[in-house]
Amino acid sequence: MKEYRLPLIMLAVFETVAIMLWLTKDNLFYLFNFSYIGLSISLGIFLFIKKYKYARRIVQLLVGLYLLLYLGLICQENMQIEGFWYYLFTGVFEAATIHYAVAKIFGPLIFGRGWCGYACWTAMVLDFLPYKIPKEPGKKLGWIRYITFALSLVFVAALFLANVGNIERIMFLAFIIGNIAYYGIGTALAFAFKDNRAFCKYICPVTVFLKPMSYFSLIRIKCDKEKCISCGKCRQVCPMNVDVTDDSRNRKNGTECILCMECVHNCPKDAL
Ligand code: SF4
Ligand code: SF4
Ligand code: SF4
Repeated sequence: MKEYRLPLIMLAVFETVAIMLWLTKDNLFYLFNFSYIGLSISLGIFLFIKKYKYARRIVQLLVGLYLLLYLGLICQENMQIEGFWYYLFTGVFEAATIHYAVAKIFGPLIFGRGWCGYACWTAMVLDFLPYKIPKEPGKKLGWIRYITFALSLVFVAALFLANVGNIERIMFLAFIIGNIAYYGIGTALAFAFKDNRAFCKYICPVTVFLKPMSYFSLIRIKCDKEKCISCGKCRQVCPMNVDVTDDSRNRKNGTECILCMECVHNCPKDAL
């Protein structure tokens, strides 16, 4: 039973959120939405425990496509960061703000950057590129994320200050253009730096929320020093350059961990 603890915790967390939002907002959509996401994530972790090779990719596709195609394109809800600012400024506590609160602001206190490993529709595509394991050491370009974060805020604030009409429509167009830009820049960076996750490491504005919150994450990869033989395999396979053998919260690139479990899967001594 112990090995199924993680999928059960994830299912319980998402079901709690689903039921709470359904009852408080009197809207069945939230029950369906968070139950679907929780079930998809728990299924993926379960498949991973069963050593199914594509477990994480299945969750990425189940959740990422649902968010991108259904919520983003069909329901026309901007789920990017500018959508979060927009709904925050208008005081509407709807899908985009709730999505951010659960997946990217408060949820990471429990499941760290699980969003980045299992649900993000940007990484869902970037992870198909050829550089799953970075071929070069990380660059000191993380400061760019603060610029993209500020730009997203300034963009939405300017629309409000300039009293632009039909912002809802602009937000939908921004969602489409923003996603095309993310995929384009992400792909170019992946090939330039030989690293599928270069966009996540240097550009993504959402990490301004994700990284500090995931520092306190309840769910973390820990190393059993008694079993570890310092072979270095875990660091070799890590897409995010995390020094996972260090158990401290401020370990090198600790807040980059996306809980992809590649290190756990590859450790020859089951030390992780
Ligand atoms: S860092 Fe950004 S782009 Fe990368 S997986 Fe996380 S949210 Fe998605
Ligand atoms: S390989 Fe391990 S340390 Fe690296 S991101 Fe995945 S789970 Fe985290
Ligand atoms: S792969 Fe396992 S044994 Fe090797 S360094 Fe990492 S934790 Fe230690």
